[in-house]
Amino acid sequence: MAFDSLQDLLVHELKDIYNAEQQIVKALPKMVKSADNPTLAQALQTHLRETENQVSRLEQVFERLGMPARGKKCKGMEGLLEEGKEVLDEDGAPAVKDAGIIGAAQKVEHYEISAYGTAKSMAELLGLSQVVELLDASLQEEVAADELLTHIAEGQVNEMALQAGAGRGQASES
Ligand code: FE
Ligand code: FE
Ligand code: ZN
Repeated sequence: MAFDSLQDLLVHELKDIYNAEQQIVKALPKMVKSADNPTLAQALQTHLRETENQVSRLEQVFERLGMPARGKKCKGMEGLLEEGKEVLDEDGAPAVKDAGIIGAAQKVEHYEISAYGTAKSMAELLGLSQVVELLDASLQEEVAADELLTHIAEGQVNEMALQAGAGRGQASES
């Protein structure tokens, strides 16, 4: 598809996010199961439900644009989820793994925040106000999910991860 207009580029971005969200729906259940901290597991479970809803919001966006909802493989998300899986598939202290899961999940959120932010700006310029509203609703959920993960990491999980490694040799700066 050639990029002859801003709308062409918007559609390209939407197909990418649509596929990315579908990949996330598939990946989140395993992250929920792997999380040891119940607050973290709950946050990921809640975000799974939100993500399913984000998929249907994108279907509404395609409908507004008069096109079939069809994604195009998001290689970025595929890579981020693969890296996350490296943490899930490894043994280790539960709190340390939780800290790794949070890091992986936040990389996913940041990708989504960029993607929705870009698409929303383009939709604004194109005067697609209903599309803007739909994209903004998902953008706000991604931002909130990211902030909640920071809160869980800094409020409990990172400290527990630090304690898990106590006595196993201190990190030090020279
Ligand atoms: Fe999402
Ligand atoms: Fe992508
Ligand atoms: Zn998300």
